[in-house]
Amino acid sequence: MLLTITTTATPATDLGYLLHKHPDKAQSFEQSFGTAHVFYPEATDERCTAALMLEVDPRSLLRSRTSVNSPDFALAQYVNDRPFATSSLFTVALGRVFGSALKGRCNTRPELARTPIPLTLALPAVPCRGGADRARSLFEPLGWRVAAEPVPLDPGLPGWGDSHYLSLTLTGTMPLSEALSHLYVLLPAMDGAKHYWVDESEVDKLLRAGGATGGDGDDGPGWLASHPERGWITRRYLNRRDRYVRTALARLAEADDRTGDEEADDPATEDTAAAPAREERGPSLAEQRAGAVLAVLSAERATSVIDLGCGSGKLLERLVEDRALERITGVDVSTVSLERAHRALCRGCHPDGRGRHRPLFAGADGAREGSGDRLSRPELLVGSVVYRDARFSGHDAAVLMEVVEHLDPSRLSAMEESVFGAAQPRVVVVTTPNAEYNRHYEGLPEGAFRHDDHRFEWTRAEFTAWAEGVAERNGYAVRFLPVGPEHPETGAPTQMGVFTR
Ligand code: SAH
Repeated sequence: MLLTITTTATPATDLGYLLHKHPDKAQSFEQSFGTAHVFYPEATDERCTAALMLEVDPRSLLRSRTSVNSPDFALAQYVNDRPFATSSLFTVALGRVFGSALKGRCNTRPELARTPIPLTLALPAVPCRGGADRARSLFEPLGWRVAAEPVPLDPGLPGWGDSHYLSLTLTGTMPLSEALSHLYVLLPAMDGAKHYWVDESEVDKLLRAGGATGGDGDDGPGWLASHPERGWITRRYLNRRDRYVRTALARLAEADDRTGDEEADDPATEDTAAAPAREERGPSLAEQRAGAVLAVLSAERATSVIDLGCGSGKLLERLVEDRALERITGVDVSTVSLERAHRALCRGCHPDGRGRHRPLFAGADGAREGSGDRLSRPELLVGSVVYRDARFSGHDAAVLMEVVEHLDPSRLSAMEESVFGAAQPRVVVVTTPNAEYNRHYEGLPEGAFRHDDHRFEWTRAEFTAWAEGVAERNGYAVRFLPVGPEHPETGAPTQMGVFTR
């Protein structure tokens, strides 16, 4: 089994630094299951190719009795694809031989490791049951151009058709460590037949390689957390072991959250071992929450909405579809989140620059443009809910979706004053986690919060007491609604208060 990595960066031989392997040398590394060789078929300043070739000794696989998923016929122990397919064995070798490159370490040239470079990765025999379409759905969202040719079962006998192996060529520009991490996770996921037993440590490996464990000064959620196929990838990588899959998906949702969004899903509502994976279970909790907020706004016949702490704009994206709304505004303290919101809303931009949003970061005193095209919404503002702000006024409804728990408790009264006291929208919708429900979250230690940035999480009694106080002090009435699956003892995962004046 073989992988070639080609770059045309200048000088291309920098690839040697990145891989920690000198282009002039051929090197071999003994593995328990065979030998990995690294060599450079070409190495000029213009173009450099490194090859990783793994020779598997099938007898070593038998000796170590590692073939857990061996197909159900006896000979399969001896006759199988492991010696030539680019499978989970290959990724083990990749992790060992190119470990530093995978982690993005390059002591001599640290800036080089972070630099995106033009890359072509070629893999002649990748086992992939879903064929070329599956390979594209996995690699294209990560920025690769994908060429995937099915390998015929027997080139001499075309009537036999294709095997489930692909000859895969990926072309793209990115840091080498990122490219290797994509292979490290996606090759075993495509293969779906791990040669070793999957245990808890595999969850950590997956999240680390998927960039979802933070660190490295990178505050993004990592590529796996934001991958549209993250459910499928996680399930396959972890050999469909439900317990680990649920833990990993919950941690990925948290990673996505840490960058500003409340997508924390609830992995434990169905705690049977056979619980279907997330994507088969209907809408996520975040989607249900947004749906519940929209339903309330519609029932209250809101004519304009300000989304306070809008994050990356999940609710705004839904609000812009509502033609009944005359004005939509998103506010957040985080410019990173607002940029994400801007990009999300920008997808529908007209080529002539008219889009579904106003120019980013309209100033505090900036004159609002005439609405012209009704789609030129919403307005995105940098601001804080704990300061009185004239721009918050003039909206019929305000939403604080999963925001109050991010405020220091000592600042809650300042938020109350700026929203309920000064801006005074007719309707205010507040959602926040129900702490009582946390015990259903597998892997969440007792007393811990669902998200690193939460300053507190309230029980239903605590939320009710706070909300009734706010309502009374500011001349509102408040009613409460559960969001998400309700448990007879703990209630629903999200609690919602609807304040009306
Ligand atoms: N409402 C969004 C995001 C919730 S995450 C959703 O439900 O998907 C909490 C958001 O509140 C983050 O985007 C954070 O930047 C924002 N936030 C925290 N403190 C804030 C403050 N004082 N003023 C405005 N936004 C704040």
